Amino acid sequence: MSEKIERLKTVIIGSGPAGYTAAIYAARADLKPVMYTGMEPGGQLTTTTEVDNFPGYPEGIDGPTMMVQLQQQAERFGTEVRIGMVTAVELSDETGGIHKLTIDSDKVIEAETVIISTGASAKYLNLPSEQRLRGGGVSACAVCDGFFYKGQDVAIVGGGDTAAEEASYLANICNKVTMLIRKDHMRASKAMQHRVNSLKNIDVRYNTEIDEVLGDQVVEGLRMVNNQTGRKEEIAITGLFIAIGHTPNTGIFKGQLDMDETGYILTKGKSTKTNKPGVFASGDAQDKEYRQAVTAAGTGCMAALDAERYLATVETPEEVV
Ligand code: NDP
Repeated sequence: MSEKIERLKTVIIGSGPAGYTAAIYAARADLKPVMYTGMEPGGQLTTTTEVDNFPGYPEGIDGPTMMVQLQQQAERFGTEVRIGMVTAVELSDETGGIHKLTIDSDKVIEAETVIISTGASAKYLNLPSEQRLRGGGVSACAVCDGFFYKGQDVAIVGGGDTAAEEASYLANICNKVTMLIRKDHMRASKAMQHRVNSLKNIDVRYNTEIDEVLGDQVVEGLRMVNNQTGRKEEIAITGLFIAIGHTPNTGIFKGQLDMDETGYILTKGKSTKTNKPGVFASGDAQDKEYRQAVTAAGTGCMAALDAERYLATVETPEEVV
């Protein structure tokens, strides 16, 4: 005899600030949310140290603690947090339709609404020395971690808008910012390039890549290499910021949800609605512009409210017993 398929009102995929905020609101609205945490429970914030820019924490809070507290808050109202990955989806086109989710490539569950909060992952160079010093001076978020390097010398890798924006941000805080760009030009918009070039304490190095990040426990310097001449040079720095782009974690929705050319889920107007009824997207999976914990949390709240309103207006088919 085949097992009955579990039917849930609201499934939240992903456990960053967007997911937990959606969970808090959905649980309080009696949507009985079940969250699947994904591979990295707590999301990107668990890879940072101190979070100083989330409102309500005057002394700051470390990322992992904040995520534990968000989980406790979501559970307090009845969210069920399950460790597991949603590995495949079959999203219905019908209003009131049932969405099928495969968990850990094995179990299938049904959901009346789905809130996507799968986030994005920062890209790294994947040099052994860079990976070893992640959390020891290597960061992928200048806005999160730049403040710890106040008055110090730092470096940033990348030539896109993010790198240019973060280099300008760091220049306001740090003593000197060395910006490493692998090509002979910046990809960033002209306005951002102008901003970078106007700041006296940013030293832009074109055709330059990292040979090795120096330091045992913490970043102490950088050996860079000019990819045209092969010339190597060492500089002393205490912080290294990697700003070479993010990858939204949206692969399982490809072909079913509308996305931009880089894989960010497209939402309708000011809402979190996707092109599938009952499927809502929040956080970094749909935002390549702001990517902050607080903005992710805001869209998580919106997704839960959108799901609640949707459920109030549709009739879902009876469960097959
Ligand atoms: P981008 O993909 O635009 O830029 C990535 C940068 O990193 C490029 O300069 C790229 O070099 C470089 N890079 C990639 N891989 C490596 C590597 N292995 N080693 C060294 N350098 C590397 O990413 P962004 O995050 O900057 O921007 C993403 C999108 O978000 C863009 O569309 C951007 O315009 C947008 N955005 C807009 C903002 C705004 O409007 N305020 C702010 C931030 C982002 P190369 O050029 O050689 O490929």
